[in-house]
Amino acid sequence: MSKPHILIFPAPAQGHITSMLKLAELLCAAPGFRVTFLVPAYIHRRLSNHSNATSRLRKLPFRLHPIPDNGHQEDIRPGSFDVKDWLDSLRMTAQPSLKELLADEGDPIDCVISDGILSFVLEAAEEAGVPVFYMRTLSACAFWVYFCLPHLIQTQELPFNSNELDLPMVNLRGMEGVLRRSDLPSCCRHGLDSRSMQTIMHQTLQTPRAKGLILNTFDHLEAPTLDLIRTRIPNLYTVGPLHAHLQTRLTAIPNSSSTSLWEEDKTCLKWLDEQPENSVIYVSFGSIVRVTVEERTEFWQGLVNSGKRFLWVVRPDSGGIIPPEIADGGMGRVVGWAPQEAVLAHPAVGGFLTHCGWNSTLESVVAGVPMVCWPHFGDQQVNSRFVDDVWGIGRDMKDCCDRVVVEKMVRDVMEDRGGEFRRRAGDMAKAARESVVEGGTSYSDLDRLIRDIRDLCNAI
Ligand code: UDP
Repeated sequence: MSKPHILIFPAPAQGHITSMLKLAELLCAAPGFRVTFLVPAYIHRRLSNHSNATSRLRKLPFRLHPIPDNGHQEDIRPGSFDVKDWLDSLRMTAQPSLKELLADEGDPIDCVISDGILSFVLEAAEEAGVPVFYMRTLSACAFWVYFCLPHLIQTQELPFNSNELDLPMVNLRGMEGVLRRSDLPSCCRHGLDSRSMQTIMHQTLQTPRAKGLILNTFDHLEAPTLDLIRTRIPNLYTVGPLHAHLQTRLTAIPNSSSTSLWEEDKTCLKWLDEQPENSVIYVSFGSIVRVTVEERTEFWQGLVNSGKRFLWVVRPDSGGIIPPEIADGGMGRVVGWAPQEAVLAHPAVGGFLTHCGWNSTLESVVAGVPMVCWPHFGDQQVNSRFVDDVWGIGRDMKDCCDRVVVEKMVRDVMEDRGGEFRRRAGDMAKAARESVVEGGTSYSDLDRLIRDIRDLCNAI
């Protein structure tokens, strides 16, 4: 039997690493498969310190390979952060190691799975004659929007006036009547010259060059959009939710998979044990978003006024210290970084106030926990609209950060319309679990990906 050696290269950010590491683990479990996972040295250090991925994966044919970072250790930051500069600097530092690995005849690479925003990996692999699959770590609906940006420009729906954000989109195939201008990825608000928009559009348009596209989603959740993507990228693998998939496929390995780049504070699980069922709203805005002091005050006031207990993640690097009123709040608990999957699975958690990053959204879907969405940037604007308007499993605050709205939406999700949201979220969670067991769509697609990689390897 062939023994495929796969090189996986994620963009060095928590959300990208999390889902691509989970895919790596699933692939390593396929007989004969080996994975080399490429990360900059500073990410390697943080993963080794804070996640159990390295010890967990030690039992599998997996190698976490650090590439020199030459002092470039920048995490993605919204606002003044320049995604093009970030990708350019990654390309500069990664390229020598990447080329060396691709040329290594002693331990040849049979196939590359590249993050779909790293076209320099695609180019290097093409040059070396190694087949490449792309993986995007966002939702299918957000991917489709990025893919349609040239059409929106051509039909002059982009750029638009920032005081007409409520107008519905008319040229976005499949999403007419669903998305408004305000629901487009945040880069669309900054005009056609925006470097982030040009960069992400360019990266997305390279996708058809890859052998196929892997998405961390499942058919039941995004069927109409997946059908549209298949018209342009026929070889699509929907293998998510990956964290649930991992639990069903790798039952022999303990389930406490952590891919965190920060130290997890597990004491909050004990605190949750003491709270009544469905009584706590979990608050986290992921690994990138920075919340200003004013915004934090509005959230705190809204939460207190809602009368709900809360568990709030305030990252140590999220800009500022924890205000004493939050730290001392009798109804709440604050941590620097939580074991999020376990928190969402805890029976005490009845709602999730989230920025709607795709991993967080999927984790909430799998746990059947309704959401209050406060999208910040990138694909989050699209995801939050789908959570509210299409899937009906939460409320979307969109551009509003106001204590009255926070209170109203938290009450809606946890109390007034709580039964309705929980029922729909429960149905979606069931569909998610069904997709990752034998016979499910994601289970079959992962098998197909494994088969296709093996066939490619045999053909070399
Ligand atoms: N996460 C976590 N603990 C926290 C906050 C976040 O483990 O306290 C994880 C979360 O489970 C998710 C990831 O960090 O898997 C965040 O990814 P997402 O795509 O939601 O957002 P991003 O950080 O990319 O904005």
